[in-house]
Amino acid sequence: MNDTSVLSPGTLDHWISGGPVPGTSGRTSRVFDPATGRPTALVPLASRAEVDAAVKTAVAAAGEWRHSSLSRRAAVLFAFRELLHSRADELAAIITSEHGKVLADAAGEIARGLENVEFATGIPQLLKGGFSEQAASGVDVYSIRQPLGVVAGITPFNFPAMVPLWMCANAIACGNAFVLKPSEKDPSAALFLAQLWKEAGLPDGVFTVLHGDREAVDALLDHDEVAAVSFVGSTPVARYIYERGTAAGKRVQALGGAKNHALVLPDADLDLAADAIVSAAYGAAGERCMALSVAVAVGGVADRLVEAIGARLPSLTVGPGNEPGTDMGPLITREHRDRVARYIGEGAAAGAKVVVDGRRQDLPSDGFFLGMTLLDEVTPEMTVYTDEIFGPVLSVVRVSSFDEGLALINANRYANGTAIFTRDGGAARRFQTEVQVGMVGVNVPIPVPVAYYSFGGWKDSLFGDTHMYGPEGVNFYTRGKVVTQRWPGPAASTVDLGFPRTR
Ligand code: NAD
Repeated sequence: MNDTSVLSPGTLDHWISGGPVPGTSGRTSRVFDPATGRPTALVPLASRAEVDAAVKTAVAAAGEWRHSSLSRRAAVLFAFRELLHSRADELAAIITSEHGKVLADAAGEIARGLENVEFATGIPQLLKGGFSEQAASGVDVYSIRQPLGVVAGITPFNFPAMVPLWMCANAIACGNAFVLKPSEKDPSAALFLAQLWKEAGLPDGVFTVLHGDREAVDALLDHDEVAAVSFVGSTPVARYIYERGTAAGKRVQALGGAKNHALVLPDADLDLAADAIVSAAYGAAGERCMALSVAVAVGGVADRLVEAIGARLPSLTVGPGNEPGTDMGPLITREHRDRVARYIGEGAAAGAKVVVDGRRQDLPSDGFFLGMTLLDEVTPEMTVYTDEIFGPVLSVVRVSSFDEGLALINANRYANGTAIFTRDGGAARRFQTEVQVGMVGVNVPIPVPVAYYSFGGWKDSLFGDTHMYGPEGVNFYTRGKVVTQRWPGPAASTVDLGFPRTR
């Protein structure tokens, strides 16, 4: 990086008008390295006045940027893609230092974010409208899509690079200015992205980073000149964002929490299912919205599945995410680690069988570590089942049939992702048809759609009707306009153009 000042310890800056700007509210929050438990920086929390000033600069930038040619926008996107690709290791190190996930995971999140940038490089193609010649006599009709102006993104701690990229690549390619309010728990990845956008040639003010908490979020939700809000985070906050943002007349897409189930049928390839469930349950310490947190074991597969999963856990290493050989890093904060540990106790007290206990493992003494937990004989009324734990805890629920498993999944209030493990194509097809969940995997544990589809759950996992990124992202960040035009034919004009008129 040419200028590392924004990433050095101390108080971080906002990023406004193409450069770092110190906060003036006087309020800050501490950022930690979860692997050591030590604070590494202070992040400023923007006031309403700071939000207002930053949005004003974004409004001015959006006015210019919307008139930039599609080829210029694509060129900036291509340059950004190259920078992000070549600097991925630096960004991964930043993510690991504030989030705690292992470096390979951080690299994986950047790769998935890059896909969205690559998708957005096709913006000239994506914004093509339709044209109907001679819809009526002498009348042509065509459609165009235009940017909204200033759009905001409010993002969670668990993917500090990928989720902002889900939003900003398409928003900017569509001709908007984008204001990012990243999680205050791991804010530095957003600043790194800001710097890359600048180096890619994006005009100042088109990408803004405003740090903050609820005060900044409310200011964005209420602001007259913010046209749309994309949110990803927990369900209570998603609901709040959706209600307040739409009441203020904005477009809002708000993705919430999850409780993702894997349905394992007796004919499943057990090794494949156990490997997939272990990586999807415990990867990134379970702090993924697409983590599998419930394995629904059908009939006789339960004992074999629990044994296969339990046998895999002792060989996995819990430790700092930047150490080679670590499979799982710490949780994001001490409070969150303690909350997850409490759930394990509640599950045990309610009658779940603790097959592997993450509280009793040999773990690094510093930092916010918790081992992997496997709970068997979990039932639907237990809090370990009803609540999104967002930690390395896998619950196994035993059911007697496919239908019982399907009904259990469909009764859950969350509906982000799910997966079925089976060798039976008919069962898989029925599952895909009847399950009431937004993203479905067949022998694939984490079915995050590729960037040319769109991402989103159902029920309490999504508020609004537009999924994130892909074609739905392009629609979200643009407004449609349809032009119906008639040009006078030869009879209506007396001017001699010197060539025959068409009719
Ligand atoms: P969170 O809801 O606590 O925070 C998300 C964002 O909202 C942050 O920027 C935060 O500063 C802000 N915020 C928090 N409380 C607020 C309030 N009361 N008012 C206004 N703004 C507020 O979520 P988190 O802990 O950062 O992330 C984890 C959650 O995100 C999990 O529930 C996870 O399932 C969910 N998530 C969902 C998806 C998805 O695609 N559905 C993806 C990633 C994460």
